[in-house]
Amino acid sequence: MEDFPAPLYGENEWIYKKGRGFIPLGLRDYLRSNGLAYNTVWSIGCPFHCSYCGNTKCIANDSMYKKIRHPSTDYVVNEVKAAVGRYPHISTICFHDDSFMPIPYPQLEEFAVRWREAVNIPFAVYGVIPNYVRRDKVELLTWAGMNRVRLGIQSGSQRILDFYKRPTPVEKIEAAVEVCASFSPRTIIPPAYDFIVDNPIETKQDVVDTLELCRRLARPYTMNLFSLRVIPNTDLEKAMREEGVDIEEISSNYITLPPTWSNIMMYLLALWRPPRWLFDRLLKRVEPSGGPQKHYPVLAFLFRLLFLIKRGFDHLRFMDFSTIPGYFGYLCWKTGIISGWRKLFDPRPQSLRRKDSIGMAGVRKNQDQEKREIEAGLTTLLAGPPAPGLSGEARRVDEGTHPTLV
Ligand code: SF4
Repeated sequence: MEDFPAPLYGENEWIYKKGRGFIPLGLRDYLRSNGLAYNTVWSIGCPFHCSYCGNTKCIANDSMYKKIRHPSTDYVVNEVKAAVGRYPHISTICFHDDSFMPIPYPQLEEFAVRWREAVNIPFAVYGVIPNYVRRDKVELLTWAGMNRVRLGIQSGSQRILDFYKRPTPVEKIEAAVEVCASFSPRTIIPPAYDFIVDNPIETKQDVVDTLELCRRLARPYTMNLFSLRVIPNTDLEKAMREEGVDIEEISSNYITLPPTWSNIMMYLLALWRPPRWLFDRLLKRVEPSGGPQKHYPVLAFLFRLLFLIKRGFDHLRFMDFSTIPGYFGYLCWKTGIISGWRKLFDPRPQSLRRKDSIGMAGVRKNQDQEKREIEAGLTTLLAGPPAPGLSGEARRVDEGTHPTLV
């Protein structure tokens, strides 16, 4: 990976526009698509094998795909610096890695130290798998500048998680959420949790289990809701065929949800935890996902609007325009509002509690070591200690698939 050129960004890129053909990508296009964010990945690979995920196909093609690997910290730092050099308005870096958190602590520490020294721009980490969330890692990354995490939950029903072949037991999800939520709202934007809804095999109990989990989750949080769609050739496609269920493919819209009672309750729960008596009354109206049910378009619109307003406010509080596209963020950057705000209200912890912090000398030592290993063609397994409290399958996953540097 070290030998690959950095992704192309901000030069020699073209976009097709109706009536105009291919024209060079300009500032306006970047702002419209990405707001003030630069999207990238540092590591690739994922040890899991969730049935709905396109990764299953990558793993079927090459079992080595399970291994998490990444280029050096210098590589990613230089990539980001080059992008910012071309477009200085970039104010948040979004890492779309499938599994950032399993990267062992020493390598994350090296990344954190280099990032804070050389880039010093807030970053978001997507693709956080609950099994790998550890307080020390989150603490370290927030010190480096992490201002947002996105974690895959998908369902609160153990039956549905098993159906998805996702070894993330509900207790592990709650423990991970507890850690993430404890950093918000002071240090990070309320963490975002992904849920898959509208799975036609979900019974009423499965839907209720997910709603119950949402009610229990430590606050604050926000969520990304997706209607279940099938990626062709995945295990999910096969499983659905076996169930005799025909659902739409990934190319159809999966963001606009049907305005069902349970989807409305998901938005409500992200805003507020209702008292038990009221929650029980609301649950009575829940229907199985696959069955016919009443739709509430006006109510769904209102709750979604409130949800989006709250979410927008949470981002503005951090002057984060990674999910708010358009010119407004650019104006805030141009007029110095973003830099001024961030100087005044820097949410990062100013020091790390960890005593054996490696510092820059350690970073260089690790980089030299890494280089030597790559040159010698070694595959090094750098396994960190498993997350405290892991048991059963989650523990085996944590121990058995810690990332490999290749
Ligand atoms: S953990 Fe995420 S990236 Fe990995 S297989 Fe599951 S859905 Fe895909």
